[in-house]
Amino acid sequence: MKTFKTLTACLLLLPFASCTQVSDSKDKLIENKVENLLSKMTLAEKIGQMNQISSFGNIEDMCGVIKKGEVGSILNEVDPVRVNALQRVAVEESRLGIPLLIARDVIHGFKTIFPIPLGQAATFDPAIVEIGARVAAVEAASVGIRWTFAPMIDIARDPRWGRISEGCGEDTYLTSVMGVAMVKGFQGDSLSSPSSIAACPKHFVGYGAAEGGRDYNSTYIPERRLRNVYLPPFEAAAKAGAATFMTSFNDNDGVPSTGNSFILKEVLRKEWGFDGLVVTDWASAKEMITHGFAADDKEAAMKAINAGVDMEMVSYTFMNQLPALVKEGKVKEETINEAVRNILRIKFCLGLFDQPYVDEKKPSVMYAEPHLAAARQAAVESVILLKNSNQTLPLNEGVKTVAIVGPMAHAPYEQLGTWVFDGEKSHTKTPLDAIKAMYGDRVQIIYEPGLTYSRDKNTSGVAAAVAAAARADVVLAFVGEESILSGEAHCLADLNLQGAQSELIAALAKTGKPLVTVVMAGRPLTIGREADLSSAVLYCFHPGTMGGPALADLLFGKEVPSGKSPVTFPKMVGQIPVYYSHNNTGRPATRTETLLNDIPIEAGQTSLGCTSFYMDAGFDVLYPFGYGLSYTTFAYSNVRLSAKELKKDEVLTVTFDLENTGKYEATEVAQLYVQDKVGSVTRPVKELKRFTRITLKPGEKKTVSLELPVSELAFYNIDMMKVVEPGDFGLWIATDSQSGEEYSFKVID
Ligand code: BGC
Repeated sequence: MKTFKTLTACLLLLPFASCTQVSDSKDKLIENKVENLLSKMTLAEKIGQMNQISSFGNIEDMCGVIKKGEVGSILNEVDPVRVNALQRVAVEESRLGIPLLIARDVIHGFKTIFPIPLGQAATFDPAIVEIGARVAAVEAASVGIRWTFAPMIDIARDPRWGRISEGCGEDTYLTSVMGVAMVKGFQGDSLSSPSSIAACPKHFVGYGAAEGGRDYNSTYIPERRLRNVYLPPFEAAAKAGAATFMTSFNDNDGVPSTGNSFILKEVLRKEWGFDGLVVTDWASAKEMITHGFAADDKEAAMKAINAGVDMEMVSYTFMNQLPALVKEGKVKEETINEAVRNILRIKFCLGLFDQPYVDEKKPSVMYAEPHLAAARQAAVESVILLKNSNQTLPLNEGVKTVAIVGPMAHAPYEQLGTWVFDGEKSHTKTPLDAIKAMYGDRVQIIYEPGLTYSRDKNTSGVAAAVAAAARADVVLAFVGEESILSGEAHCLADLNLQGAQSELIAALAKTGKPLVTVVMAGRPLTIGREADLSSAVLYCFHPGTMGGPALADLLFGKEVPSGKSPVTFPKMVGQIPVYYSHNNTGRPATRTETLLNDIPIEAGQTSLGCTSFYMDAGFDVLYPFGYGLSYTTFAYSNVRLSAKELKKDEVLTVTFDLENTGKYEATEVAQLYVQDKVGSVTRPVKELKRFTRITLKPGEKKTVSLELPVSELAFYNIDMMKVVEPGDFGLWIATDSQSGEEYSFKVID
């Protein structure tokens, strides 16, 4: 832990020049430069800046269009020699010498891959998440990438949606905190530092609410829910200085985001004062034709620019249609000017005019030791202990032989997760590698994967895996999802383990040996059956390059799990959408209702209890939001509130004692939830408002205080005004969203 702290301190101390974030930087100097340059630009050159192309490989063709001033930004160039060559044409051969903005999806690492964002959210540790984004920035910027399309801060309450892996889960507050940490990490203290990359919160907005969890699908989010649930992470990111925003693919209540002036102009620009750059998602301007929202390219371009888009990603409707649209008066030149200002401002802020080139000879920062140490620490903190009967974990000295089985035990590509374009599997440390290297002298290892990949249905290897289990003291079964099973467009209607993995677990369980199931996946899976058959379950959302050492240390007790789930685990798909922060309904279940198997034959229509529940799935989920066990135990006590009644401008301080009542030094994520009892509109049964990580030695007790300004209880009320409504509130300090005793306080006028 000490080495890690020293290393990360070094990381955060990387030198920064002194330039401010975009939103603070409407300083005269930059604005003058922008206006001066803008005044020299032809309409065609302005439109060229608004055009983002994807690398077409052939550098000569690209140089040709760059020289003509037809490109403002390029995505998917990662070779510093090529980046410099392209940049040289822009700077030295185009008429005005405007540098290119080089972009890439650097989502959870560039070369050193951190856990997928859902896993990072499970750390409940914004500090490690910020470090992860910083590492990604340092590595990506070293090849000339100065813009990433991250963080993805779409609230996702449907694990069928493959992109749940890319975000921070179901909760608005957690996503806001993590999104801000990522923005800070990517952008550093100053955008102008050569190691900073511009962040791009996406997808604005509502994309995660795709109907049925099927990607690109329509959403139906009414304004109040949009404002209370989906917009706050974006507002927080904008306020944290995010330089750019990306629109989303979905149409919400009939309006595709790329043509939605309400969200882009009213909310983003006017209400939040955002002065950064808005880019479309990949061809999402042109896709408004397929949506049936624009008749042709011309109308698509017109709707996008007039709605508030500044730059179009790859579909050329701006390039091809804006000249005529301006001529015909359908798009004002001032609208174009404003878009170009937003683009140029970022190029100035990034220091691209002063330093357009990257140093090709610089020693490589890729996979640097501190980067790997940080990725390992993030992976350690991201792992969630879901079950641990009979203290199966950590493995004790009595364990002499372990059987390592399952298709994810040694799957260097798969454990990296989705959106990995640049990280190489040759650098991945798998659990098998790590256990052999780190604990091979302590235990004998028998490796029999049983299945070769997660969808494998060929069970011919299962017998060998079972035989290995029979010879071992403990079985470690690594199952889950290949990385291709989550991410963009990779949605599933069935969330059970794929292939014959369930059969493998069942066969292993039959040996009677303690079975530790380790899941690596891009989403919460319906693993109830496998959990029942296992003595212990560790769950990690694809943990990245250093997942192996992290898991090895957790299994053998050098580290103690502290991850908490950023999403609800459903028992079965039919419960979805299922999330902790739901409204109460007029008929919440009393938990005394009759469930399916107990219903008498010919039961009377109303005899089951007329409440809101599933007869087959019952009342509970598999694991609630915020859930995660430890090898130790924690006791919460002595919860006290600074006041029983508070005014709207006051701050509530909640103090409690936390004691480590077990045998291991460990970290607990204490969570503070509130419920607004009565509102002008119905309010969720619980909302996360604060959390903190506390590390305690065995027997140690600490007094912890959390401050909650009453203003943070505000929500969009019946009049669509953001207000704190006076009245009674419930409060919980707990280890997850379903535990803890309820306390109360009152907000008064
Ligand atoms: C995705 C974006 C991504 C973009 C560029 C799109 O398909 O939706 O999240 O940033 O491609 O690669």
